[in-house]
Amino acid sequence: MNVLVVGGAGYIGSHCVRQLQAAGHRPVVLDNLIFGHRQAVSSEVPFYECDLGDKHAVGQILRDEQIELVMHFAAFAFVGESVEEPLKYYENNVVATLRLLESMLEHGVKRFVFSSTCATFGEPDILPIVETTPQAPINPYGQTKLDVENILKSFAHAYGLSFAAFRYFNAAGAAEDGSIGEDHSPETHLIPLVIDAATGRRENIKIFGTDYPTPDGTCLRDYVHVDDLSRAHIAVFDQLKQPGASYFYNLGTGRPSSVREIIDAVESVTGLKVPVVEDARRAGDPAALYADSSKAQQELGWEMKYPDVKAIVETAWRWHQANPDGYLTQAAES
Ligand code: UDP
Repeated sequence: MNVLVVGGAGYIGSHCVRQLQAAGHRPVVLDNLIFGHRQAVSSEVPFYECDLGDKHAVGQILRDEQIELVMHFAAFAFVGESVEEPLKYYENNVVATLRLLESMLEHGVKRFVFSSTCATFGEPDILPIVETTPQAPINPYGQTKLDVENILKSFAHAYGLSFAAFRYFNAAGAAEDGSIGEDHSPETHLIPLVIDAATGRRENIKIFGTDYPTPDGTCLRDYVHVDDLSRAHIAVFDQLKQPGASYFYNLGTGRPSSVREIIDAVESVTGLKVPVVEDARRAGDPAALYADSSKAQQELGWEMKYPDVKAIVETAWRWHQANPDGYLTQAAES
């Protein structure tokens, strides 16, 4: 299929582009390169640098490239910033997405795969999180993703759009060959930060809270490999042939790791010591979040290649070793 990957130069989008190619599809990338990296997308893949909210440009791409399905990964995703600057988040994550959907409908493209988040659930009382767990986001970022999920439901009903929304837990890791990986600026995610502390690029890693009601006192999260996420997005394609179909899936390994366990995994994979500083809790961090992904496993036949966090860290380490400055390393070498 001809698939437009919006945000295809970003972390998850770029891995999905690779998996689409591996599965025999024809990806086309749209990215405004605010957070994406041009080097993350192979030169064989058609690439358009533009905004997803630019209806005219998007319409032309849909037509020229004969797009049959759109995957949407292009969101602002810094939780703290979303609290400080909600306008920016609603504009980009909701309003621009509406424009994208409008272009799709105008051009008769009615299949959509949406990158949602476990942040739509907020701080649930019961774990693991299933698809029917009540959604109550606790920050504008999570709210914008939930708003889009609701927009999609009404578009499925009114316009026959068929869609799947995937709520990711903690996307992590890198391509098996280490050629593409995680490169955020600023980086806020635990695994790349711990690797930087191991290699001395950062002085230390601060553990945000050691007094949580968890076995070792640090937060539990569900780290899931970015290629495993990508494969689920592709496995749903057949189900989207039915007009008006709507699907929601939680994607995580269901095996949470604590912050200390991640530090241990990085030490074991790298053979390096990680300097640790115990710090105060970070505002808004729930003690534990992890998924029940049995729905994706049963309905999509989703099988994880990396159910174990150490294997995930190994891929992140391989990417880091080949690209210590992230995509800047590749830019300097080319
Ligand atoms: N964390 C930490 N130190 C850091 C960054 C993150 O202790 O420098 C913790 C954070 O409190 C959370 C976990 O690591 O419990 C994962 O955080 P991350 O920001 O990677 O993802 P989140 O779960 O917040 O989406």
